[in-house]
Amino acid sequence: MVDYIIVGCGLAGISFAEIALINNKSILIIDDKSQNSSRIAGGLYNPVILKRFSEVWKAQEQLVLMDDFYNQVEAKLETKFNFKLPILRKFFSIEEQNNWFAASDKNNLSPFLSTNLISKKYKSIDSPYNYGEVLHTGYVDTALLLDKYKQYLIENSLLIEESFDYSLIEFFDFGIKYKNRKANHIIFAEGFGLHRNPFFNYLPLDGTKGELFIIKAPNLNLDVIINTSVFILPLGNDLFKVGATYNWKDKTDVPTDEGKQELMDRIREIITCDFEIIKHFAGVRPTVKDRRPLVGTCQKYKSLHILNGLGTRGVMLGPAMAEALFDSIENKIPLDSEIDIQRFDKKYLNKSILDQT
Ligand SMILES: Cc1cc2nc3c(=O)[nH]c(=O)nc-3n(C[C@H](O)[C@H](O)[C@H](O)COP(=O)(O)OP(=O)(O)OC[C@H]3O[C@@H](n4cnc5c(N)ncnc54)[C@H](O)[C@@H]3O)c2cc1C
Repeated sequence: MVDYIIVGCGLAGISFAEIALINNKSILIIDDKSQNSSRIAGGLYNPVILKRFSEVWKAQEQLVLMDDFYNQVEAKLETKFNFKLPILRKFFSIEEQNNWFAASDKNNLSPFLSTNLISKKYKSIDSPYNYGEVLHTGYVDTALLLDKYKQYLIENSLLIEESFDYSLIEFFDFGIKYKNRKANHIIFAEGFGLHRNPFFNYLPLDGTKGELFIIKAPNLNLDVIINTSVFILPLGNDLFKVGATYNWKDKTDVPTDEGKQELMDRIREIITCDFEIIKHFAGVRPTVKDRRPLVGTCQKYKSLHILNGLGTRGVMLGPAMAEALFDSIENKIPLDSEIDIQRFDKKYLNKSILDQT
């Protein structure tokens, strides 16, 4: 008997597992490696949507929670994977500079947008209009986090590597039975794999494919993250992560020639030196129509819960959403209506497959 079976060992599943463990709950994670969004992600966290100059939804709260969460996991796993690094926005015109300064005057953005123009010159990047610096930014090495966390789970017999079979759930007063295991609750955190889940696949999880590269560029001497139409993130040893594309039609995690061309073109808009593509990845971000996470409890089966829809921002959102779900289950603290799946239940539930389960 465990308190929680968690389906999915990406950023969402790990966030919930850790919050449950901190609160002395027992867990078991089931993962089949069918999705790779968390593994290949850029891992950046940035409280500002630079394209629109708006604050990321509840950025302040998420940054605080995120810091505590990753510090705690780093200490537990004795591994550093949260790297604080400035994100510099390259300006292409005086107008862009002016827009930056206008945005940095806004109350909600002023803590995040530095008013110092960065004029440092990086080899192989032309920057006649200089850069603006976003504050409180960095990246999480998500692949390292996943590897280390899975190793910890395996060492403690807390991970089963297989596909979850939804048809085998049996419901009881205490919770559920799955194969020979009993649990009070199941947390479904399958990312884009949600579409196979008959209890929650009525929810409007769109999915947005993204492709990214790891490149080698010995003449690119960067110690910050550069953000324009793509980001360039220094990994050390002349390696850089570059991404990402956005494709709303293709829902596969197969790297494509179109994605490759798009990334190559974008890189050439920023850097003037040669580079070699070392790796080319693709994955599907679990994005939602209204750009808010999918968190909550099944109306019919109260032991079933969902933690999904982290979209383009799993690093910042994961810990905060996991905590909100945990609090709603254990402490009956109502979920924010903006993330609660009930916002869709009203619209979609009659059409859902729930009645057939
Ligand atoms: C190219 C790209 C770049 C990105 N860059 C960033 C970034 O810079 N910063 C950022 O914050 N976010 C970024 N993201 C988004 C981020 O990756 C996601 O928000 C996050 O990974 C979602 O995590 P998740 O745990 O919900 O889903 P996933 O990572 O997809 O994890 C779901 C897990 O569930 C498992 N699973 C699914 N179905 C089943 C089943 N039936 N049985 C067993 N296991 C199952 C899968 O194998 C998988 O391990 C990026 C995404 C992509 C694709």
